[in-house]
Amino acid sequence: MASCDAPGLQSLDEALEQILSSLTPLTEEEWVPLSQADGRILAADVQSCLDLPPTDNSAMDGYAVRVEDLTEFDWLDVNQRILAGDATTQPILPGECARIMTGAMLPEGANTVIMQEDAELDDDGKVRFLAAVKPSANIRRRGEEVAVGDIVLAAGRRLRAADIGLLASLGIDQVVVRRRVRVAIMATGNELVTPGQPLQTGQIYESNSQVLAALLVRLGCTVIHFGIIADDPQALRQAYQNADSQADLVIASGGVSVGEADFSKQVLDELGQVGLWKLAIKPGKPFAFGRLPNSWFAGLPGNPVSTMVTFDQLVVPILTTLAGDNTPPRLALRARLTCGLHRRPGRLEFQRAVVSTTEDGVLQVTPLARQGSALLSTMSAANAYILLDGDSSSLEKGQPVRIELFDGLLL
Ligand code: AMP
Ligand code: MG
Repeated sequence: MASCDAPGLQSLDEALEQILSSLTPLTEEEWVPLSQADGRILAADVQSCLDLPPTDNSAMDGYAVRVEDLTEFDWLDVNQRILAGDATTQPILPGECARIMTGAMLPEGANTVIMQEDAELDDDGKVRFLAAVKPSANIRRRGEEVAVGDIVLAAGRRLRAADIGLLASLGIDQVVVRRRVRVAIMATGNELVTPGQPLQTGQIYESNSQVLAALLVRLGCTVIHFGIIADDPQALRQAYQNADSQADLVIASGGVSVGEADFSKQVLDELGQVGLWKLAIKPGKPFAFGRLPNSWFAGLPGNPVSTMVTFDQLVVPILTTLAGDNTPPRLALRARLTCGLHRRPGRLEFQRAVVSTTEDGVLQVTPLARQGSALLSTMSAANAYILLDGDSSSLEKGQPVRIELFDGLLL
């Protein structure tokens, strides 16, 4: 459907909805040891077979007491010393208490722990307490964090460091995860040269496939490199067919616009069902997506910023859908402009910008002075996009704008 702001163009949301609803997530699973689980997508819920903590235990170095004794006795006998890891304890009888260390099991009869800084010892080893004491203080109860049967992590979770620690603390040493998505990448264009090779007049160094490879590795994909493919129907056909036989998703950069050397469309029409989308976004208007015989195909515009924006806004959701990854989208944030911003209404624009905080901790944002879609250095310098809706025009200093922070991991 055409957008009223940008006639003939399709909105990003509509295109995404159509594309994502056409995908079927990969279903293959594999078991990996915890040491290799970081960043992998859980294929099944993880249910705890253990209470965490497994027993009531002390949260402090101190004394385990019966709180009711504190009004009856001035001094208590210390009947035992309990260290973390000790397997047995003696019950606490009236008039007694136990010396106890952090993480040590609470003895039967004790119902509070008093920290050692509030205790006074006499010469006979008896102890009294200087501060007021509440029942159940400084005790970590059995199962208070996780109880047997709790779902600790749900299927679709992209595992992070703390998750791996949590699994370890439940005694789990391997998890079932989705297999990695296999992605073939290629850069199309006669002008492109691989870094490290001499550059002839009219040529430029190829950077998109390097960017894509770095992003894909961070997303946990297996990357299959096809290098540079000439603007030649025969070369493109061969590369697409070869990539299709090996990958779940084939990504090509360049050649999806309507230049005279853009043969992709013609070749893709022969091989599969790939649509050329004209999206109401800036940068990044042209985007190809559809089916090859065995895989999905995404064709990104060649300008380096357009490649990154379309990858970030379209390919990442495609990949997370294929991978069964339930990570929520980036937070919707707002920041105040530090300067005026000039623009013509039309497409949803992703301006590269630098976000910082004021002394009061309020987010502020400065758009970079140059916004050309060929300027990869702007993606390098920015730490966020400013999102300008199709119908918004120029804005004044101090006005709030929508931002998406680069998370430092993917972008
Ligand atoms: P295209 O989408 O093929 O029309 O390319 C648009 C612009 O991006 C042209 O200036 C290309 O030279 C440039 N470009 C295309 N592919 C790459 C690439 N892999 N690395 C760097 N620049 C590229
Ligand atoms: Mg080209």
